[in-house]
Amino acid sequence: MAERTGGGRTAIVIGGGLAGMLAVTALRGHVDAITVVERDRYPAEQVFRKGVPQARHLHVLLSGGQRALDELLPGTVAALTEAGARSLSMPRDLVTRTPTGWQRRFDDRRHPALSVTRPVLDAVVRERVLRAAAESPTRVEVLEATEAVGLTGDARRVTGVTVRSRSGEGGARPERMLPADLAVDASGRASRTPQWYAALGREAPREEKVDSGLAYATRMYRPSDPAAEPEIGVNVPCWPACPRGAAYVPVEGGNWLLTLSGVRGHHPPTDEAEFIAFSATVGDPYVHELLAGAEPVSPVHGFRDTCNRRRRFERPGAAPEGFLVLGDANCTFNPVYGQGMSVAALGALALRDTLADSGPLRPGATARAQRAVSRAAEPAWRAAIGADRPYTGDGDSTVGLGERLTTWYIERLSARAAVDRVVGGAFRDVFCLTAPPSRLMAPRILLRTVFLPRRPGLPRPPAAVERA
Ligand SMILES: Cc1cc2nc3c(=O)[nH]c(=O)nc-3n(C[C@H](O)[C@H](O)[C@H](O)COP(=O)(O)OP(=O)(O)OC[C@H]3O[C@@H](n4cnc5c(N)ncnc54)[C@H](O)[C@@H]3O)c2cc1C
Repeated sequence: MAERTGGGRTAIVIGGGLAGMLAVTALRGHVDAITVVERDRYPAEQVFRKGVPQARHLHVLLSGGQRALDELLPGTVAALTEAGARSLSMPRDLVTRTPTGWQRRFDDRRHPALSVTRPVLDAVVRERVLRAAAESPTRVEVLEATEAVGLTGDARRVTGVTVRSRSGEGGARPERMLPADLAVDASGRASRTPQWYAALGREAPREEKVDSGLAYATRMYRPSDPAAEPEIGVNVPCWPACPRGAAYVPVEGGNWLLTLSGVRGHHPPTDEAEFIAFSATVGDPYVHELLAGAEPVSPVHGFRDTCNRRRRFERPGAAPEGFLVLGDANCTFNPVYGQGMSVAALGALALRDTLADSGPLRPGATARAQRAVSRAAEPAWRAAIGADRPYTGDGDSTVGLGERLTTWYIERLSARAAVDRVVGGAFRDVFCLTAPPSRLMAPRILLRTVFLPRRPGLPRPPAAVERA
C-alpha cells in the first residue's frame, strides 16, 4: 500500500552515503519533503559500517571536490580539518614516485588533498547536511535500516520507490511503496537500477567499462614515536612495467593508512606477513622502510572491484521522468586516482545549479539535471580511462586514435610534470578537478611536454621543499 511522505512536492533519495547526503543538500529548497532511504543503521560513533565497504581504504578528497563540497555546504572543509583531517598539499606534503623517478617537491600549495578516514568524513558531512536541512523549510526524514528494493511507475515515469525494513530479528519484512515526485539513486557501486529498469519494462542503460584489474589491500599504522612521524605522505603508484603500488598517508588521530595495490596477477595479499613482504616489492622501497618506524593497529582489508564503469543515464530517453542517478551509482572510477568523492560533490553541485535554473518538477527537468551530473563526471572519466587503458590488455579495437593519442600525451605529460613546475602545476589543476582538461593543451604546456627533452625524476624521495 502506498504511503504519502507529507503534502507538497516530494523526493526520495536511495542511499544515505556521501552522494545521498549531498543530493539532500542540492534538493533542499526545491521540494517540500525529502525521504532518505538508507539500508544501514548509522553508528553512534564515527566507525566503519557495512554499506560503504570501501571505507576501510585510503580516501583523499581532491581540491576540486573540496571546493564543490564547500560551495554546497560552506565550512565543511574546515569542519573536517577540525575533526582531524590532514591537509596535504601536492607535491609539497604528498610526493609521488613516477616511472622516471621521484617528483620534485615544489612549494605549490594550491592543491591540498584532504586525508581522513571515510567514517569521519561521512559522519561530518552527514551531521552538517542534516543540521542545515533541519533549519530549512524542506522536511527531511531518514529511514535507517531500510532498503530500496525497486522503483514504482512505468517505463515512462518513476512515481516512487519500494522499500523493505531491515531492522528486527527474523520475521516477515513486508515491502511498502513510498510515492514521490522525484527519486534519486545514490546507492553507490552496488546500485540495482539496471535490474529495476527491467521491472519497469525499460532497457538497461548503456554501460561503458574500463577495468585495469587493480585490487587494494589496506592496513592502519601508528608511528611508534609520534615525534618521528614521517614528514610527507607518499604515493608509489603502479605503472605498466611495475604493476604493484603503495600509498602511505596520515589520517586523523595520529594514524597512517597504508594501501597496497596491484593489477591482475599482482593483487596484494590480505595475510599480514605477506602484506609486509608485498610492500617491499613496489616501485620503490621507501614506503617499506617507513614501516620500520610504525606499529600496525588494524587487520588488513582487501577490495577488488575497482573498475571504471559509467552508465549513460544522460543519453536521450535513457532515464524515465522523475528519476536521477548520482555518485557511484552513475559513474565509478579506479580509486587509485582519488576522484570518486569529488565527482559525487561536483555532480551534486551541478544538480543544485540546474534545479536553481529550472526547478525539479517541470517536464524534462530531470533529464537536464542528469546531463549536468554526467558533464561534471566527464573530465575525471576521461582521465581515468586514458590512464587505465594500458592495463586492460584487451587490445580493444574500439579505442579510437583520439584516446590512444591522449594516453600517449598524458604519459609524457605526467613524466614532465614530475620535474617541471609549470607543467606540474597544470597537471595538478586538471587531475585535482579544478580546471578543464583543455588546460593541458595550452600552447605553453603542450610545447614543454612534447619538445623539451625527457628528464628523469629524483633518485630518492625529496627531503626538502623547493622554494621558488
Ligand atoms: C577502495 C576504494 C578507495 C577509494 N578511494 C577514493 C579516494 O581516495 N578519493 C575519492 O574521492 N574517492 C575514492 N573512492 C571512491 C569513493 O569511495 C566513492 O566515489 C564514494 O563513496 C561515492 O559515494 P556514494 O554515496 O555514491 O556511494 P557510497 O559511499 O558507497 O554510499 C552508498 C550508500 O547507499 C547505501 N545503499 C546501497 N544500496 C542501498 C539500497 N538498496 N537501499 C538503501 N540504501 C542503499 C549504502 O548503505 C551507502 O550508505 C574509493 C573507492 C574505493 C572502492
